[in-house]
Amino acid sequence: MRFGKIILFGMIVVLMVCIIPVAADSIKSEGNSDNGNKPTIFIEYGTGKDVGLVKVTHIHYAKSVDKGKPAKTTTCYKLAGWKWSGPITYTINPNYPALIDAISLATTEWGQNTHADLFNDNEQGTYPWGVRDYKNSVSYGDYSTDGVIAVTSTWYSRATKTAVESDILFDTDFKWGTEDPLSMDIQNIATHEIGHTLGLSDLYTSSCSAVTMYGYSWEGDFEKSSLELPDITGLQKLYGA
Ligand SMILES: [Zn+2]
Repeated sequence: MRFGKIILFGMIVVLMVCIIPVAADSIKSEGNSDNGNKPTIFIEYGTGKDVGLVKVTHIHYAKSVDKGKPAKTTTCYKLAGWKWSGPITYTINPNYPALIDAISLATTEWGQNTHADLFNDNEQGTYPWGVRDYKNSVSYGDYSTDGVIAVTSTWYSRATKTAVESDILFDTDFKWGTEDPLSMDIQNIATHEIGHTLGLSDLYTSSCSAVTMYGYSWEGDFEKSSLELPDITGLQKLYGA
């Protein structure tokens, strides 16, 4: 009898261990959770110039159903903790002309809302995403997690809060297009990811769902290509008007 109870208890423990992670994972993959999609932050203790660099990865998740609402206040922005001390040069994979065009338009959109000199002309080249190599790479690739639209990793100095590199990856899990209701919109996502490079974080409250830095997107979401007032307020907090 006592042995039977131990067996029963053991079976319950095994069931709990198996079921709970599956349930948590399925909630996250549907994008319904507002608390599981924060950027992952870790510190890289490198050598030489890389000592004390912090690497922050913002992950942009898909959400199946959402409706953009007007951004009512200027408080729908969040600073990530860094800024740049000089203009940024993106190096874009030359195999993707649409990506080159989208990054070019998106840098113009951010740049025209401040007098600061934010960007140099884009360059073309093939460099890996998420690797500290002094290149701000932009490309397509297959990110390992399902339901991810794009990811941006940015390195900055803990001491000076100055960014030194930012890599953007557009996930090949999705069909990409331009103002196509059945595709992820390249322009929409490019403008959002560049906001991370510049030093703005994601917002997850639904009252901020119309701003470019809202943390979710979906097929047919085009309105984030152009900045809203709160995005501009955040930009100007960092770089001035
Ligand atoms: Zn984001």
